[in-house]
Amino acid sequence: MELYVFSIPMTTRFRGISVREGVLFEGPAGWAEFSPFWDYDARQSAPWLAAAEDSAQHAWPTALRDRIPVNCTVPAVSAARAAAVVHASNGCRTAKVKVAEPGQNLADDIARVEAVRDALGAGGKIRIDVNGLWSVDEAIQRIPVLDRAAGGLEYVEQPCATVEELALVRRKVSVPIAADESIRHAADPMRVVTLEAADIAVLKVQPLGGVAACLRIAEQIGIPVVVSSALETTIGLAAGLALAAALPELPYACGLATMSLLTADVVNDSLRHVAGELSAGRPTLDPDRLAACAADEETTARWVARLDDIRRWKAA
Ligand SMILES: [Mg+2]
Repeated sequence: MELYVFSIPMTTRFRGISVREGVLFEGPAGWAEFSPFWDYDARQSAPWLAAAEDSAQHAWPTALRDRIPVNCTVPAVSAARAAAVVHASNGCRTAKVKVAEPGQNLADDIARVEAVRDALGAGGKIRIDVNGLWSVDEAIQRIPVLDRAAGGLEYVEQPCATVEELALVRRKVSVPIAADESIRHAADPMRVVTLEAADIAVLKVQPLGGVAACLRIAEQIGIPVVVSSALETTIGLAAGLALAAALPELPYACGLATMSLLTADVVNDSLRHVAGELSAGRPTLDPDRLAACAADEETTARWVARLDDIRRWKAA
């Protein structure tokens, strides 16, 4: 099987990285992307490989919808820049606003959320993402304040770091709680539900082992699912869209409008949303665009060795 290693600079530094790397390969069902973050070891990366192999080998489940609503993401920027992000978001009706940035305070978060509400208008939806950075007490104090500033929050994503903390917060606030970082392994969603720690589960196709695996998880957990990306190219994002398209219910916009974080793509029809929606479907790789994104020899060797490591780990 031919492997194509890509290396694409990002438009914004995110998760401590400024270049997104990964491997693309083609199977009987289509193209697949394998792009675990570099700090993941073989065990953590194994489900990412299973997801890619599943995408390459098997047709995706039956789509129940072909257009998927997506959110725009407002980083922890000033109120003025936050409004500009919403205005530039090409018609997204849902905004995810990052809060709790180290070095900032609650007043910064309030100003940002208010600015997003002004820019979005009364009909738009606002969710905040804390990335696990608040204590239980901070979450209980701050969520109602930001709920008022936003004129109503759709939900709060990962207000605290642990599942136990999410469960405590959920009992004290009326805004729905979404679990994101608490769900990184296939067993995690069930734990979130057992502890009644969240109202919504954020699922990502690669870390959870593929589209079919995620669909099974969604069936088991019985709470609404938001499909989010792992900052993939259009090849990887399409798997997230396939999951979103196949879910029996999709009450929330998905976090799949992340192509804008990459400076280039490997397909001609790059996934850019229209009026806050993305189309599901199987993308085809474009050889010229792929060549423009091809990694250098050192990077390619590193990824080939990484795949060997994971296969050795699985065999052991
Ligand atoms: Mg999140």
